[in-house]
Amino acid sequence: MRLYAFNKLEEKLTQLGYPQMKESGFKVIKVDLTQEEISGHISYRQDGVYRTINNQAQRGYMYMYSYDVAKHNQYPKFHIMKCKTIVDQMSRGAFNTKYIWSNSNVVDVQERTTRDVYHDVRLSLCGNCAKEAVGTIERTTEEFYQMLLANAALTIDVSLDKRPYNSGEISKIFREMMNYTCNACSLKITDRMDRVYMHMHHKDHNPLNNYPENLESLCYLCHIHTDALHKAKLNKPRIKQSLDYFVNKYKEELVKIGNPYIKAYLTQL
Ligand SMILES: [Zn+2]
Ligand SMILES: [Zn+2]
Ligand SMILES: [Zn+2]
Repeated sequence: MRLYAFNKLEEKLTQLGYPQMKESGFKVIKVDLTQEEISGHISYRQDGVYRTINNQAQRGYMYMYSYDVAKHNQYPKFHIMKCKTIVDQMSRGAFNTKYIWSNSNVVDVQERTTRDVYHDVRLSLCGNCAKEAVGTIERTTEEFYQMLLANAALTIDVSLDKRPYNSGEISKIFREMMNYTCNACSLKITDRMDRVYMHMHHKDHNPLNNYPENLESLCYLCHIHTDALHKAKLNKPRIKQSLDYFVNKYKEELVKIGNPYIKAYLTQL
């Protein structure tokens, strides 16, 4: 029932001209959700709350800024969709102006009565969102953020002036064909959620050349080390942060299979 409703919604959004999520750079943003909704920037989907600016859809989540933290002895939860909790709040008139839209790993939360601010807090996913969402879900704002970073990093071969309109689709099909296995170190990603750490690399650096002989399936760590051009991406803090996250998560396996770069990489973590 819910899945059916969602497919209808997707169809509707497409008809209304809401853009699909496009590959793009990634910036951390925190804004008032109601203001954004009034401006017509917000669309609620199954896998996130999308904020569309200049035809670029940014995926994020929402959370209540002012909250009785001490009373509940916990921080507010974050929501990725119009779950039961949100729908209830909307019908009681307890939703508007209360929420922040964000795509960050950490947020600020205000103690409702004293107005003290807790800084850089990581939130957990709302139970109803977890129940109602379809597919893989991120359980914390940190996981959500790391997923966004990793998604943005999937396109490190693609410069802005050379972007095939369907690069995301090609990459997905190719990586699927290659069984999410790295050509260089043979790492295999089995966790669906971590598929974003297996990349499609263009040997000739031309993202428009998608002939099979030009493509390689490489894990994030091997991909960054293919040449100086790729290594230079490590100067981008968000790329570095996201690669660190991947390496930390997979370090034992990478060491075990003898990944050629892991030892040197670990010494500078
Ligand atoms: Zn929720
Ligand atoms: Zn590899
Ligand atoms: Zn590449």
